Amino acid sequence: MDLCEQCPSYIRAIAPYQPGKPISELAREMGLDEKKIVKLASNENPLGVSPKAKKAMERELADLSRYPDGNAFELKAALARRYGVSPEQLVVGNGSNDLLELVASAFLAPGRAAVYSQHAFAVYPLATIARGATGIVVPAKTFGHDLPAMRKAITPETRVVFVANPNNPTGTFVPGRELEAFVASVPQDVAVVIDEAYTEYLPPEKRYDSFSWLARYPHLIVTRTFSKVYGLAGLRVGFGVMSPKIADLLNRVRQPFNVNSLALAAATAALGDDDFVKKSAAMNRDGLERIGAELKRLGIAFIPSSANFLTFRIAPVDHKPQAAAVYDKLLRLGVIVRPLAGYEMPDHLRVTIGTPQENERFLDALKKAMSLK
Ligand code: PMP
Repeated sequence: MDLCEQCPSYIRAIAPYQPGKPISELAREMGLDEKKIVKLASNENPLGVSPKAKKAMERELADLSRYPDGNAFELKAALARRYGVSPEQLVVGNGSNDLLELVASAFLAPGRAAVYSQHAFAVYPLATIARGATGIVVPAKTFGHDLPAMRKAITPETRVVFVANPNNPTGTFVPGRELEAFVASVPQDVAVVIDEAYTEYLPPEKRYDSFSWLARYPHLIVTRTFSKVYGLAGLRVGFGVMSPKIADLLNRVRQPFNVNSLALAAATAALGDDDFVKKSAAMNRDGLERIGAELKRLGIAFIPSSANFLTFRIAPVDHKPQAAAVYDKLLRLGVIVRPLAGYEMPDHLRVTIGTPQENERFLDALKKAMSLK
């Protein structure tokens, strides 16, 4: 029999993750100059890498023949100091994506289930289905998480609930009070993962401290990343904060050296670069405002965003979706955004907030693509 048919059917059923189109690929396909392409497709930091992280990596280059510190001692010590948690509560990952996979490996299996929202981050279904577990998808409410419905959807087989706050790709946000009440309402034999990849972009009035909830809720796992406001997406580094008992379980399924030396050094330095974080978040808020105001002026509907991207609607014509055509036209104009058909949002596109110049390039291209002024 064909070896590939021996692969469990739940693995063969996985729809691969669709990343944003890389600049080099678009340049090759359309014969465009890479330097003239603007990529606003993967929620990366348009300011690049923090200068402190760059220096730390340069120092680390001399030691690349050695394995990294598999226990991430220095990064964990820096995180513990920064957030008032203990190193035993921390697990580091190859991006926060790795944390989501580790949680799935530790708690999901055939016969078990995970609950997540419609339009929530694509890795939740991927990680769930790859373990042969069942994904329970809860319909979104005005594109955001419907927490009461998610609570009701929990079955005796459910072992994990994933909540992204803010959510990607919708940018929607659940206030801290509501989120904590939700965590409190979930049975303690179900892990609640709060994915806070975009938390550093929240304006002060929306901030909440989920780490302080850990003392009350032993089933809570919070994940964060260095890929967004810290500007280290290419290095792949993130972390999770949880009870020491859960951390011990995740460490059993973690690859011994899952985070590389450059990533460890850069993340430790980036954590201390408050200026860079502040500058990045401020530029993002200005960009969100600018793009939001212009979309409004053009009559293009968008979902209010608490993150570093904006998801907007391209109205169908005669019931025919137009978003894919606008996406293609933007590509031809050298601007890469993200189509959202895979998120059951065929009429929406997502644009990452860029530098002021990139934002203007996007707006000009969008007007051309839609024949607007
Ligand atoms: N969670 C959310 C909500 C995200 O949008 C992303 C990145 N797209 C991730 C997690 C994973 O990011 P990383 O693995 O780079 O930390």
